[in-house]
Amino acid sequence: MTISTRFAPSPTGYLHVGGARTALFSWLYARKHGGQFVLRIEDTDLERSSAESVNAILEGMTWLGLEYDQGPFYQTHRFDRYNEVIQQLMDQGLAYRCNCSRERLDTMRDEAMKQKAKPRYDGHCRNQNIDPNEPHVIRFRNPEDGVVVVDDLVRGRVAFQNAELDDLIIRRTDGSPTYNLTVVVDDMDMEINVVIRGDDHLNNTPRQINILRALGQDSPKYAHVPMILGDDGARLSKRHGAVGVMQYREDGFLPEALLNYLVRLGWSYGDQEIFSLDEMIELFDIDAVNKAASTFNTEKLLWLNQHYIKSSDPARIAHLLSPHMGKLGIDPSQGPDLVEVVKVQQERAKTLVEMAEISAFIYKDFAEYDAKAAKKNLRPADRKPLEAALEALTQLEEWTRENLHQTVEQVSAALELKMGKVAQPLRVAVVGRAASPGIDDTLYLVGKQASVRRIQRALEFISQREQNA
Ligand code: GLU
Repeated sequence: MTISTRFAPSPTGYLHVGGARTALFSWLYARKHGGQFVLRIEDTDLERSSAESVNAILEGMTWLGLEYDQGPFYQTHRFDRYNEVIQQLMDQGLAYRCNCSRERLDTMRDEAMKQKAKPRYDGHCRNQNIDPNEPHVIRFRNPEDGVVVVDDLVRGRVAFQNAELDDLIIRRTDGSPTYNLTVVVDDMDMEINVVIRGDDHLNNTPRQINILRALGQDSPKYAHVPMILGDDGARLSKRHGAVGVMQYREDGFLPEALLNYLVRLGWSYGDQEIFSLDEMIELFDIDAVNKAASTFNTEKLLWLNQHYIKSSDPARIAHLLSPHMGKLGIDPSQGPDLVEVVKVQQERAKTLVEMAEISAFIYKDFAEYDAKAAKKNLRPADRKPLEAALEALTQLEEWTRENLHQTVEQVSAALELKMGKVAQPLRVAVVGRAASPGIDDTLYLVGKQASVRRIQRALEFISQREQNA
């Protein structure tokens, strides 16, 4: 049997972290079993769905590399099919028209609430044979007794009494089918045999199984994955900085870091933290997903991102870094090869945004000195080493790393200073702050003209400082 899983988001917002993890688990399960992964857009709620959100979901899936084998299917394109199935249920006496008024339903609900019971529809219209020309909804005739047992791959065995369920609406007065009906028809038609989704849907599962049974279908296997919490224990939301996955790209995360982070959210394999995609596919198992909710931890995501930045091919990182440089107003083609920059910065940044920020000085003059760095390293006492370095560097003909290294060494020796006493003022002069790659790499990448100009600027800064003293 071919395994088929699906991801079935409602396009009412971004592809958020929770959705992305559900998609990843479904995708991994399909890949692991050589199966099919289907993308289905559940857009029947016309008021809350938007084309923008569909695009955000598709874009997020593409960025994460969760490619689907079938779809995207849109539920709004399948209304004829849903109506066909509703008609079939009607013909078999498994569904019926109901014209109970809002007041009647509200009174019933209030009564139930008073008695602290679950509000349930009482089956009033079950045998009424309502005129089809009257406004009406259609309800599914849920079995009155018996138990629906769900052997959930994550939650284990969960049993629901039919007596607790009621006859749910499968078509609204306006003719539109409801969620539980469309999901059942789609899972059936798309031959989905493993449904992996958020555990907020667990209570829908017995209803869906009953409809499937009425249609003479076996139910798929289910895996309800627990929700993700923020570090304060509340359900993960925007308040925790949880946003659409594309925001992570904006913020300088690599897709493989986010995937690796998401796979570990509720799943573990010994104490392994780093998983390549191939390893995830090989080792992931839905049975091993935790029942308990997991907590989102931004520090860990940053740690993984740094790991992937460090260990990725510099050319790829350069390619991904380029747009972040662009956002700082830098065109990396007007300066040293970005790959060379990545090579010296790869160990120094947790995100691409940070890498762009700490690399900007290579392409353009910084606006002002970091106050602390200037105070410490552009003092009157630093004038001498800076002047000596300026002279030596101005005369340097070949601007190579080796020559730069030697120059700094020679200047230090001539002044009988430790190398750091020359390199650090030079660094602050050229970078504007106290941290940068090695001084030879730094000077090399900044280039002769800009280095000379900035050292002159630092000397002026020192002069002003002297005057103000
Ligand atoms: N469309 C539903 C949602 O976005 C998911 C339905 C399902 O997976 O069965 O929550």
